[in-house]
Amino acid sequence: MGIVDEDIGRVREATDIVAVISQYTQLKRVGQRWSGLCPFHAEKSPSFSVNSEEGFYHCFGCKASGDAITFLREKEQLDFVGAVEALASRAGITLRYTERDEGEGRKRQARLFEVTESAAGWYHDRLRTSPDAAAARKYLRGRGFDAEEVARYRIGWAPDGWDLMVRSLKISQSDLEATGLGMKNKAGRLQDFFRARILFPIMDERGRVVGFGGRKLPDADGPKYQNSRDNELYNKSKVLYGLNWAKADAVNHGEVVICEGYTDVIGFARAGIPRAVATCGTALTEDHVRQLKRFTRRLVLAYDGDDAGQAASDRVYAWERTHDIEVAVVALPPGSDPDELARTSPE
Ligand code: ZN
Repeated sequence: MGIVDEDIGRVREATDIVAVISQYTQLKRVGQRWSGLCPFHAEKSPSFSVNSEEGFYHCFGCKASGDAITFLREKEQLDFVGAVEALASRAGITLRYTERDEGEGRKRQARLFEVTESAAGWYHDRLRTSPDAAAARKYLRGRGFDAEEVARYRIGWAPDGWDLMVRSLKISQSDLEATGLGMKNKAGRLQDFFRARILFPIMDERGRVVGFGGRKLPDADGPKYQNSRDNELYNKSKVLYGLNWAKADAVNHGEVVICEGYTDVIGFARAGIPRAVATCGTALTEDHVRQLKRFTRRLVLAYDGDDAGQAASDRVYAWERTHDIEVAVVALPPGSDPDELARTSPE
């Protein structure tokens, strides 16, 4: 099983099933129960019912039923342990594990998340306070970022040095390589992966840092964008930037907007549409679609003006049938992108 029984009991006890399910569908109190549109099948009138005292849900339409753990397993495609862990983290409960092996794997993952978390914090502090980040701060101000946005998106600065982060945080070589934050160079020394870049932490849908998107300053050398390479925590064909923020609004509005980059996601939020996610440097994949359709079945593609036609390829339209989704395409003015439009013409 993996998790100590007593801890599973504590998680069940601490879990408010109405709060969990409300992230996926709107529930209204009806007498002793809660009722809403079923998050497992498409319907126009509510046949989904939740008993908060007993911690169970039931759908009279598609017969889906279970407790909070079952719910998360179905909606998030998690195994039992994963679902209990998700609920435990919501409730602030630290779990104990029974089998050494499985516990070790999860402990390792938790440690790697601590590494990415501390790196995100370090880069963020650097951007806010370090003299060498003055040009980065000026650039961000010029792009309309205020202090509140810089904090909310945890934007950071990777200084122009070989190993400033590595030395400061004393991360082991294996953890550096497992998280893509650094590597051993030819001289046998540990070095930072990101240098002289503005960094946007990329989070999974639970808000844990899995990677970084790096943007160079306009007059610096090198490619404009450099993202974390795939590593133990980050798989670019599965992760969508911004999903942790967008999912609630996507459920409430019945659609999610898909754009190209992190600044586009932020542009949409500025324009009052906080339900955008970005594929970071890759085309939309079937894994992305599978993730998104757990929240909504309507996908709105908002790629840069010039790429709109390409993004709405036959491949994506074919998914309408195979995945039972609806694809719409936003016609942005040619040569424009959402980030820029949010500043010049948000309506
Ligand atoms: Zn149903």
